[in-house]
Amino acid sequence: MNESKNFLESIVEKDLQSGKYKEIVTRFPPEPNGFPHIGHAKSIFINFGIAREYNGHCNLRMDDTNPTTEDTKYVEALKDAVIWLGYKWDGNVRFTSDYFPALYEYAKKLITMGKAYVDSLSEEEIREYRGTVTEAGKRSKFAQRSISENLDLLERMKNGEFAEGEHVLRAKIDMAAPNMKLRDPLLYRIRHAHHFRTGNEWKIYPMYDFAHCLSDYIEGVTHSICTLEFENNRDIYNWVLDTLELEPPRPYQHEFARLNINYTVMSKRKLLELVEGGYVNGWDDPRLPTIAGYRRKGYTAEAILTFCDQVGVAKANSIVDVSQLEFCIRDDLNKKVPRVLCVLNPLKVTIENYEGREEIDAPYYPHDVPKEGSRKLPFSREIYINREDFEENPPKGYYRLTPQQPVRLRHGYIISCKEIIKDDAGNIIEIKAAYYPDSKSGNDTSGIKVKSAIQWVSADSAKEVEVRLYERLYKSEFPEGIEDLNPNSLQIIKNALIEPAVVTEKPDKRFQFEREGYFYADPLDYTDEKPVFNKIVGLKDSWGKKKTEKQPRAKKSQEKKIQIDGEVTPMTPQQEKFFQRYTQELKLNNEVANTLARDEILSSLYEEALTLLNTPVNLANLIVNEVAREIKEKGFEALQFAAKELAQLTAMLDEEKISNKIAKQVFEEMAKSGKNPTKIVEEKGLVQISDPALIEPIIEEVIAKNPDNVEKFKAGNKKLLGFFVGQALKATGGKANPKIVNELVAKKLG
Ligand code: ATP
Ligand code: MG
Repeated sequence: MNESKNFLESIVEKDLQSGKYKEIVTRFPPEPNGFPHIGHAKSIFINFGIAREYNGHCNLRMDDTNPTTEDTKYVEALKDAVIWLGYKWDGNVRFTSDYFPALYEYAKKLITMGKAYVDSLSEEEIREYRGTVTEAGKRSKFAQRSISENLDLLERMKNGEFAEGEHVLRAKIDMAAPNMKLRDPLLYRIRHAHHFRTGNEWKIYPMYDFAHCLSDYIEGVTHSICTLEFENNRDIYNWVLDTLELEPPRPYQHEFARLNINYTVMSKRKLLELVEGGYVNGWDDPRLPTIAGYRRKGYTAEAILTFCDQVGVAKANSIVDVSQLEFCIRDDLNKKVPRVLCVLNPLKVTIENYEGREEIDAPYYPHDVPKEGSRKLPFSREIYINREDFEENPPKGYYRLTPQQPVRLRHGYIISCKEIIKDDAGNIIEIKAAYYPDSKSGNDTSGIKVKSAIQWVSADSAKEVEVRLYERLYKSEFPEGIEDLNPNSLQIIKNALIEPAVVTEKPDKRFQFEREGYFYADPLDYTDEKPVFNKIVGLKDSWGKKKTEKQPRAKKSQEKKIQIDGEVTPMTPQQEKFFQRYTQELKLNNEVANTLARDEILSSLYEEALTLLNTPVNLANLIVNEVAREIKEKGFEALQFAAKELAQLTAMLDEEKISNKIAKQVFEEMAKSGKNPTKIVEEKGLVQISDPALIEPIIEEVIAKNPDNVEKFKAGNKKLLGFFVGQALKATGGKANPKIVNELVAKKLG
């Protein structure tokens, strides 16, 4: 774990020192209704990690209280994930369903104490009676039932004498409690469903708030660590355990911020939708953030744990950049895996002055020379290079093979191009080349200067392989649903060529294909006849670089560009460099990167602003849209602001201090008056409201004012969600954080 202690470790240490507990017991309590994802990895890392660190133990408990969605295949996936990440649970896997009899006894005890009752209001009525944040609720008339009537009804509920929804068991706490969760929460509900472990034995199932705290207690858990959404449930957790007057010690709940990653969805519901809708190929699709997906893609457990450690344990929600995870993988593999040559898009090269065949001894770890291991790289008259590594009309700054420019074959000789062979359509199908016998790598006396070394394979021994290239599954940074999927997330190359040692010697399962990225032999589809490799991650280290490297500034003069109809002007080397950097390192989309790279004023503004902040996407969008329009309308000289102001404005957007809509408004003002954007936001009171406590009452008001639409919504017109969100946003003058409004509205309308 991290050097410095996080707040959970501090609590645990204090509890050990004070003698509150003799041994630390934690648990990882997933519901087996989906495959575990990277968020679960973080929870596993924390729960098992703390137990290990303090010589305690951690239980693996399936929280299987919802019979309709759970299944043993998910239990197996959860077990696999824990083991793969390198942890061991204490004893057997536990199941909340094992405690159903004990929980039932506790429920009867609450009834006997006058602390629980069977309610027979409808779901609708229960919701109505609960009141609102500003209004106390009122208690159901059924709360008057006698102890014996309650006991009798509960028993008959259990035996299946009633239909679903006819009765529920509720705790008798306080219908006016400011924490609405305490307004007589539900403890049991009737479900006539088959449970994957208890079959048809139970017709009632305990609610999370009742089952979780007691399961923790039964297992002797000391620290019940969960995510922040459960903060308000903590009062029920304590109420149940305290009211039952259980013998100490008892567990306490502690909350931490859940892991969120941009370009990634983690909710099991959304993952299930992707799997069942056939948008991906199963739960272990390498594009999914599931443990099974990452594993199949070739991520290592070490890298995932490093990532969990790096992002830390916090008390406030935030979103982690997905490139930080990619950085961890790259960093792990960079040190470990052999480097080999693979040609993804083969172009034949015939070396006319070479006869025969030789084998070049090439190290697997050329970057780490003391590390042993090498293979024989066959070389012959016919080889393949990557199509992109030859350019007939190279732009300036192109360092690979051209008719004028020789290139080195990695670990091998220097070659030069003698003749280009084309088919009838004008496509290049072959290069005739010459090699320089005295230019062999490591023993080069030729004196020929080259600017780069490229990968290649010998035609007589190369193996055909399938390579699966993965990009992000979503094209938008904060994906909502299917509509945000990236249509290019999977590209399959059927006949890439690889040097033979990779397939015959198999020095590892993971490789660096030099100049291409890291790849993993697919654990399911790989066969000796048809090897299949998954791309794990690219080579570019964008996250690490962004943090450390200051970018060079571009000149501010603007070149005129001539655009020939139907043909794109080739980029200058500088533009090409920018374009590469923008798409690969900074992950801008092609269109934005293209606009920026080709326009010197825009790119220099961008580069300058980037030295002030390191979140490239919002900044690029602002420049390409708003700034470009402003320059077009008024000219560069008339701009009232500079890179610094753009950086400030973007920073507020990045921090969600202001919404997109407000950002536009601030930009207009800044462009007009030249005022500092932070000042504008302060003076006009435009700061985005993200605090649910401030937003909730507004939403409640909107809901209260529109009973008809609430009715329609509940009757199934889900489109009205947008109406409520819109009204709430309007009521705040556009200042509320739309994401939070969305969530709260959805929650309030149930
Ligand atoms: P989801 O909302 O993705 O469906 P969940 O919270 O319903 O997940 P559970 O199976 O109930 O999933 O979660 C098991 C444990 O993992 C819980 O303790 C939960 O708090 C934790 N967990 C789930 N998602 C995350 C996350 N994104 N970050 C940290 N912990 C998480
Ligand atoms: Mg859940």
